[in-house]
Amino acid sequence: MQKIALLGLGTMGSGMAASWLARGFDLTIWNRTRAKAEALGARGARIAATPREAAAGADIIAAMVADDGASREIWLGENGALAGAKRDAILIEASTLTPGWARELAGLAQGKGCGFLDAPVGGSRRAAAAGQLALFVGGEAATLEAARPALEAVSRKINHLGAVGAGATWKLINNLMVAAHVAVLAEALRLAQKAGIDPQQASALILAGAGASPVVQMKLPRMIAGDFEPADFALSLMHKDARYVIALAEQLGAPHDMTSAAAAAYARAEAQGMGAMDFAAVAG
Ligand code: NAP
Repeated sequence: MQKIALLGLGTMGSGMAASWLARGFDLTIWNRTRAKAEALGARGARIAATPREAAAGADIIAAMVADDGASREIWLGENGALAGAKRDAILIEASTLTPGWARELAGLAQGKGCGFLDAPVGGSRRAAAAGQLALFVGGEAATLEAARPALEAVSRKINHLGAVGAGATWKLINNLMVAAHVAVLAEALRLAQKAGIDPQQASALILAGAGASPVVQMKLPRMIAGDFEPADFALSLMHKDARYVIALAEQLGAPHDMTSAAAAAYARAEAQGMGAMDFAAVAG
């Protein structure tokens, strides 16, 4: 059984940790806010004091934190996980990050004799807790095969997209769609309200119409109820993803009109104090 270290126990990381524990993996955990580790500690995970300590002796070192800045903090520096990683360990970045940072980190991992995969996830709180995530993986096929037992324990589908950075790239393309669908839904509801259409009727008609994508179906009830807490996926994180999409599109010379419009809607909601709420609060 592979020894796993997991850094980051937010909504998604805590679900992944529970899946690894439930499937009998030897798991060491670390979180910036230690209190979030206690319940998993009671279920058999070892709690480390630093990312470096968590990484020591692990075959797989996985991270699930907010963004590029958080990822840099946990991997680099004197108490960072890279300093504790043994030669031949496999580093897995499951956070949604820029492809550029994923590639930079992969280079640092290689310099230490470690493997690297970017493996951001599809699915939210429930899928993480049930070990039913979709994974979008970038990295060498042999590294993926070596990590497969651990990855299969948290996922229902592993999609290998290519070299390091390809998983991060696809995740941003996926979230471009999700960010835009939900921002458009918020705009439709606001227009319906201004036009005097009953919200329940608007809701039923949206669900019966061609615009009812899975994420629209998922977020519509929260929007109608004004129920944005607790967040399954924080609005500030969706705003971050939209910013990363725009940066990637600019690097590649691709259009980003829809993402930019959606990003503006998330920026407005974040400026109104809704960053920690579910991203459905873009309708708030
Ligand atoms: P979350 O609940 O907000 O948790 C964020 C995690 O990052 C926490 O463990 C937090 O530590 C840690 N963190 C933030 N800044 C840090 C820093 N500077 N140094 C160290 N740790 C830091 O987020 P989440 O929903 O689990 O999302 C995690 C990642 O998965 C994000 O990249 C997100 O975009 C992506 N994602 C989320 C979903 C979803 O539905 N939620 C789905 C797919 C992908 P503290 O506990 O100390 O704050």
